[in-house]
This record gives sequence, C-alpha cells and structure tokens, in this order.
Amino acid sequence: MDLRASIRAWIRHADDAYGGDLPVQAAGAIAVPARTEPQERASEPRGQAAPSVAADPGAAARVAPEPLTVTPPEVDLDRLDLPEDLDSLHRLVTTCRKCKLCDHRTQTVFGEGAGDARVLFVGEAPGAREDELGRPFVGPAGRLLTRIIENAMGLRRDEVYIANVNKCRPPGNRNPEPDEVAACLPFLHAQIRAVEPEVIVVLGRVAAHSLLGTHQSMGQLRGRELDLHGIPVVPTWHPAYLLRNEAAKADTWEDIKRVNRLLGRPEVPPRARPRS
Ligand code: SF4
Repeated sequence: MDLRASIRAWIRHADDAYGGDLPVQAAGAIAVPARTEPQERASEPRGQAAPSVAADPGAAARVAPEPLTVTPPEVDLDRLDLPEDLDSLHRLVTTCRKCKLCDHRTQTVFGEGAGDARVLFVGEAPGAREDELGRPFVGPAGRLLTRIIENAMGLRRDEVYIANVNKCRPPGNRNPEPDEVAACLPFLHAQIRAVEPEVIVVLGRVAAHSLLGTHQSMGQLRGRELDLHGIPVVPTWHPAYLLRNEAAKADTWEDIKRVNRLLGRPEVPPRARPRS
C-alpha cells in the first residue's frame, strides 16, 4: 500500500472509530482548524478540559515533548488499608460516608469491567445518568468512550476497567473539591492494585490533576511519558469534551494509538467483535 493509500486507510479507521464524525476532507487530509494555545479556565463543566492545543494528528509524533516533571503523590499500595479484592472494596464503597458528596448521591458508582483488565480508564466523578444507574460512563460521553474502546482499541467494553476518582456525584455536576478527592482517591488506588492494569488512561484535566497531583494543562500533559505505581499513564481528553470539540478527536486518536503500542497491540487493531 503506498503512503497516500495508507493515510486514507488510517483516516477511514479513525473516522469509524469516532462514529463517522472525525473532520475528514474529501482529498484525504484532516481538516486543521487554526492552532490555539491551551487556556485553563477557572471553572469548566464536568468533562470539559482545556481547549485543544492543535488538531494536527501528526504533531505529537513529529515533535518530541519538552521534558516535564510530574510527580504523583506517593501511595504505598502495600500499606493501603483497604480490601485487596474488588468485591469487598465495592461493598465498602457502597456505604462510604467519608466526604460530603455522600449527602447528594442516589448511589455510589464504584466502577466496572474486567478484574484483570490490561487497561484502566479513569474519569473524574459520576454525572446524573451514572448516579441514577450506578454505572460509570453510561451517558452520551460513555457511548463515545465505548466506541473508542471497541473501534480504536479493538476491545470490548467489558474487557477494560472503567472507574472514576470520586465514586459519588458532585451536586450540580461541579468538579470534586480537594478534600473530596483526597477522601476518595484511596479507593481508586485500591482498584488499581486489584486490577493491575498495564496502562492507565486518564480522561480529562480534572481526573489527571487528581490522580497525578499536577496542575499542568491537558495540552502539556498529553503525549508525555508518565507513570503511576510504575504503570504508564496516558492522559487524553474527556469524551464529553470530544463531543463538543471535533478537532480534539484527532488528538485522542493519537493517544489511543499510543495505548495500543504500550500494550504491544497493532496501532490500528481490528474492531472488537461482540461476545458470542
Ligand atoms: S465520594 Fe468517595 S469518599 Fe466521598 S462519600 Fe463517596 S465514596 Fe466516600
């Protein structure tokens, strides 16, 4: 396959992965809006990270990121005083009242997926639909995440693990506050200890800041070699942000290709087949 045909095939696959809404031009080139600098906003609705730094899908591969020091808070998993198995941990979380978010929840949203998943996705906190159903990522953003998992990673949703930093919905979909993050974060560390994923994908700025203990923008964090407990961490845009920002989908496609590489899988794996 020549280079042009290869690029067209790649674009077709990326377009499919995002439900046919990746900005693709007839000539086979990605539509590239004007480059914008990352801007952190003081207050963003859930799932909205900073605006995309660029829509050029090849930029991350061509330009080596500047060195960046991100030092996640040290957590000794061996000394974590929480159950080691997911079922016991889930039962504990269900009745947790360690922070004020318990006053607003319909129910806790622990997380779901394969207990031996190779990839663990982390969002910030449940939204209204998740609070109602007790499951993570089940609204429109969740459907996009499922498409990314199935079409860009070639995995079924039940083959990965999906969780949030906070297990209870913040009122009005505000961001979790620092004391709420601090109270709930040990549960996520315990989930990571139980699942032992090979890659952690962090969805959005709020989750990245909570988990990595940094205040860098997503534009600064994306594409960096980061790790937590010795596990590679790949920050990418929150699916809710992708639903509103077409250009950022190309960034996420690059991030997911990196996840596939870290897993030793083809960058563009075949789509997941439904469980028979
Ligand atoms: S958010 Fe976490 S720490 Fe706070 S009450 Fe819910 S489960 Fe407990």
